[in-house]
This record gives sequence, C-alpha cells and structure tokens, in this order.
Amino acid sequence: MRMLRFIRSVQLLAGGSEQPKDILISSRIEAIEESESLSLGHSAEVINGEELIALPGFIDSHVHITGGGGEGGFKTRTPEIMLTDLTRAGITTVIGTLGTDGTTRTMSNLIAKCYGLREEGISAWCYTGNYHLPVRTTTGSVTDDIILIDPIIGTGEIALSDHRSSQPTREALAALAAEARVGGILSAKAGVVNVHMGDGPRMLDYLRWIATETEIPKTQFIPTHINRNQELLKDGITWAKEGGLIDFTTSSVPLFIEEGEEPAALALAHALEAGVPAERVSFTSDGNGSLPQFNADGQLTGLSVGSPSSLYAAVREAVLSHKVPLAEAIKAITSTPAENLKLSRKGKIAPGMDADLVLIRKDDLSIHSVIAGGEIMVNNGTPLITSTFE
Ligand code: ZN
Repeated sequence: MRMLRFIRSVQLLAGGSEQPKDILISSRIEAIEESESLSLGHSAEVINGEELIALPGFIDSHVHITGGGGEGGFKTRTPEIMLTDLTRAGITTVIGTLGTDGTTRTMSNLIAKCYGLREEGISAWCYTGNYHLPVRTTTGSVTDDIILIDPIIGTGEIALSDHRSSQPTREALAALAAEARVGGILSAKAGVVNVHMGDGPRMLDYLRWIATETEIPKTQFIPTHINRNQELLKDGITWAKEGGLIDFTTSSVPLFIEEGEEPAALALAHALEAGVPAERVSFTSDGNGSLPQFNADGQLTGLSVGSPSSLYAAVREAVLSHKVPLAEAIKAITSTPAENLKLSRKGKIAPGMDADLVLIRKDDLSIHSVIAGGEIMVNNGTPLITSTFE
C-alpha cells in the first residue's frame, strides 16, 4: 500500500468553514477532518500546511505533449513536454492533443506519451485526431478509438474558422460530433470535440447550426482559443450564456495582445461579469504548441512556444489583478474541466478522490508543493520526481 501522508492544518476553499483542516492521503484522499482531530498512523509522513491553502491538482486539457507546430518548416517543430514542465506548474492531469500536423505527429506517439506520463506519476489522456477532417484515427473510427483505447476521451483539436483548417462542412462536423458522442456514451467517457477556433469571421456559427439542427447538445463541443480576439470573445460569451462551454488559452505573446487577444485572466473576469456561470469557462495552456505569428496574407512572421506555467499564472492574475475570488477562478483549471471531461476522481478535494493536490502559499498564492496520486512531485518549488531523461 502507498505510504500515508498527512497534511496538517491546511486551509481549504470549499466547505464554507474557515477552520483549517487535516487531510489524510494515500493514492486517494482518505479523510478530511477538523484540524487536530485525525489521529496519526505510525507510518504517516506529516506535511505542515499552516501557511498554505490546498487546491485540487490542476487539469490542463489542451497540451501538445508530443510537441506541435512545424508551421515554418521542419526545424520549427516544437519539442516534447517533460514531466516537470507540468508538475512545476501544478498540473497533475493533462490532456494531450495533436495540432496542425497530423502527418509527422501521430496518434500512436501521442498515446505512448500518455502512458509515459502515467508511468512517471501524473494522469494523462488525449484526443484522437488533429486539426483536420477526416480524422486520422488509430482503429479506423473515432467511435472505436474512444471506446477501445484507454487514454482517448474525445476528438480534436479540430480547426474551424482558420486558414489552417481542412474547411469541413457543417454536416461533416456534425457527423464527427455524433461519432464522438456515441463513443463517449458507450465507454462512459466525455466523447467531446475539442475545437480550435481561428480568427475567421464564421466564429461559432457551425457549432450553433449543429446545436439547432441536430440532436447533439452544445456541451459536446469545447471550443478553445475563444479569447484570441474581441469578436470571438463576444461570440463565445453569448454561446456560454446559451449553455455552451468555452475555453480560454493562457499562453500568449505581447504581439497577440497588441493585435486584440484578451489575456485569459481578464477574459474570465469579463465573462463572469457578463453573467456566464464559472462552470462553463475553462482555461488551457496550449503548452508546447507553437504560437505562430502570421501577417494578413497568412505568411509566417514569427514563432514562439506555449508554456504550461501560464495556466495557473492566469488564475492568479484573475484573483490578484481582476478581483475574481480564488474559489471561482480556480474552477477553470479544476472542477470545470473535470466535469466537462467526465474525470470523476479529479477536480475536487473530497474523500475518495485521487490525491492530486497543489499547496499554495497564503501570502502570495504562489505554488509551494504539488502532489499527484499521493506522491510528492514538487516540494517547496523543487521537483522530487523527474522524467527519465531530465
Ligand atoms: Zn489550437
């Protein structure tokens, strides 16, 4: 049995009580009690939580874990992610995705990377496919991929309203959503379609058409990069108020902001102000994806790489700079993605849930320690567990 650990006198956000709690963990959360009331097992390691707040382990549901990009030729293919890129950022659950490139980046590689990250101690799943329709699957069918391949929980990222999209028809997109939905239903997985939204003027029109003309619910789609320009953000807020889900990308570069992208933290504050329930907004980092800059003619003019550390940084910025309560802001990277992706043992601190925890400092909300599956991955900023080749 995994070693018992005991986090003593730590602040929790949920539950209404301001009293610190003691949390007993193995690979799961075993018990949460009023501080000082849990009796210590002899073999339990004690972590002093007095200056800390315990948050659920962060979920980053859009990361190019095997690398992405290549939009400026082969030398611009971005590198594979390393375990500590995620754990240092508090991420204990990651959803991997391919992107523009479905030729030199393959599903078998993505699935293997998920298994590798699991062996290293965190939780990992992925989407089948990349930007383009028809989806290049593993088994020959999106439905079968979701049902039969453990790490696959949906399809994506499918590009819409973008010059790099395969320009699918609304009907083809509806058929894909149907395949994913049936796969999800039969395997008790989410079966969602993660949609990459580009800068194009069609914005969320195709998703609205599908939600109106077919029986597929709005929540079958998780459109991302919704904060990439003001028009799309406005359309996304309307979509979310109508019952849809929206996702904001936290990685950015100054030029994108200059050109009208709204930082995820501010976009969250605006969405909540506009009446969008916090439960419909998630954040993802687009980690290790390329952040290509194109001119008006679609020619590549610059390139940088997304970072998982932007995920919690955006939550912290929403709290410290835009006055969003921490208990609301944190949902975007914990309970909301857990709910959207049907990750039933993730996103909450409660007995029976996986022991995935991030301990942050009360004074400045910075990350102190990160626990995944009951193991301490990062202690006081220092990674204790690293990838094989780190
Ligand atoms: Zn994308």
